[in-house]
Amino acid sequence: MKDGVLKAISSDGTLRAVIATTTHLSEDARLRHNLSFTAAAALGRALTAGVLLSQILAKDGQVALKFQGNGPLGKVMVDASPRGTVRGFVEHPDIELPLNSLGNFDVGSAIGSTGYLHVTIDPGFGQPHTSTVELASGEVGEDVNHFLVNSDQTGSLVVVGTHLSKNGVEAAGGLIIQLLPDHTEETICRIENNISTFGTFTFLMKRGMTLEEILQRILTGFEITPLTDVKPLSFVCKCSRERFVEALKVLPSSEIISMAEEDGQAEGRCQFCNELYLVEKEGLLDLARES
Ligand SMILES: [Zn+2]
Repeated sequence: MKDGVLKAISSDGTLRAVIATTTHLSEDARLRHNLSFTAAAALGRALTAGVLLSQILAKDGQVALKFQGNGPLGKVMVDASPRGTVRGFVEHPDIELPLNSLGNFDVGSAIGSTGYLHVTIDPGFGQPHTSTVELASGEVGEDVNHFLVNSDQTGSLVVVGTHLSKNGVEAAGGLIIQLLPDHTEETICRIENNISTFGTFTFLMKRGMTLEEILQRILTGFEITPLTDVKPLSFVCKCSRERFVEALKVLPSSEIISMAEEDGQAEGRCQFCNELYLVEKEGLLDLARES
């Protein structure tokens, strides 16, 4: 299944949902950053959460998430645009932890359960706005849910999952269900009952179901109407060689010349996508002459 995201609403007006599959972009991130299993599971969940929140919180611009916990993984940063692009990294990509007591990758211990989740909404015009909540568990889904409940005051359910084998990311995705003002106790009971029986999100994905079918399965008993077509998703970074060169141009020419003479080149690595940019000696001397 290609990576994609879909928004839907229940015809009784009690809930809305956004659901995404992110297997390929999570694998792309794993390969780019040489992630350990634990780090790949954590970043896969965070990328999925970024995708889902960008669909809920932004019409344009982007939504950025920063998980700053007390675990060994360090900070986890992701930004996503409602147009379907997302990128991200973890501070310590080679941290590996034993599986937790449920047999899952221990994302909660890797990120840490003490710390903060910062969510910055940049509408694409005017000032970005940042909200901060304490981490609930470091497991990503619960932290994002904590943020939504705190900021929205609406009930929500957040599920994000990354299934890995020794070959890499086999399935990744997730969903957010938000209760609308017309919901009743029965709405909540029905969702909770469905959630307890549907197994894991990635399990449904591996059965070859479409996004709409997975959503319909999770929301059995509700009539679901898609609000959009499935929008494609991919890992895309904003960096470029041109941007790297522009950043060098800001330096005083004496510094550029000494870089050329002493190091023979300038190199910079993009934190978000791990792409390496090089400017050779000749290029540096040209820049120094221009500035
Ligand atoms: Zn980049």
